Amino acid sequence: MLEIVFATGNKNKLKEINEISKDYDVKFVLPQGDFNPIENGSTFEENSLIKAKEAYSVQNSKMVLADDSGLCVEALNGAPGLYSNRYAGTQDEKISKLLNELSNVKNRNAYFICCMTLLNEKGEIKKVVNGKCFGSIVEHRSGINGFGYDPIFLVKGTNLTMAEMSEDEKNKISHRGNALREILNSLKN
Ligand code: IMP
Repeated sequence: MLEIVFATGNKNKLKEINEISKDYDVKFVLPQGDFNPIENGSTFEENSLIKAKEAYSVQNSKMVLADDSGLCVEALNGAPGLYSNRYAGTQDEKISKLLNELSNVKNRNAYFICCMTLLNEKGEIKKVVNGKCFGSIVEHRSGINGFGYDPIFLVKGTNLTMAEMSEDEKNKISHRGNALREILNSLKN
């Protein structure tokens, strides 16, 4: 089984990634030690490369995968985007701020994006992908599953917010799921 370092300090994220890849011959592990890279890139791709390189620097000679995600709202010119995590204080405040910004706004189209960067054993970029999940921002929170902006993100083609989906359902359509499957399929070839 191929072991790949996943550039995160977040055990829940690692669990999610291993769950999505359970049908592939790959296992993701955490980098050694604390993992706190400075995410000061100006794009999702730059931030995911920063995380990948940081993980490689403590763990060279293993493949590394890193991700960076966010929510982009059409009527807000892509905000909160790169700043999804820093948009306001608590997650509840972030959601309230976004709903406020969108009060009286008709176009509620939005998408989640996840950029993943895969480095080979030499630390060179092997693959960069952008997984997306399209939908819209609802007016009121609904659902208790997931995290982040899930309660206000209605998934296109369904009548469910991400927070109303089970973990399995979300993984099948999520930006992270889509990005990771593209990476995993490229490893097969
Ligand atoms: P990260 O780069 O994966 O840590 O994501 C940055 C931020 O984007 C998170 O802190 C969330 O606010 C938001 N986000 C990313 N993925 C999701 C998701 O699947 N659901 C809800 N919010 C998300």
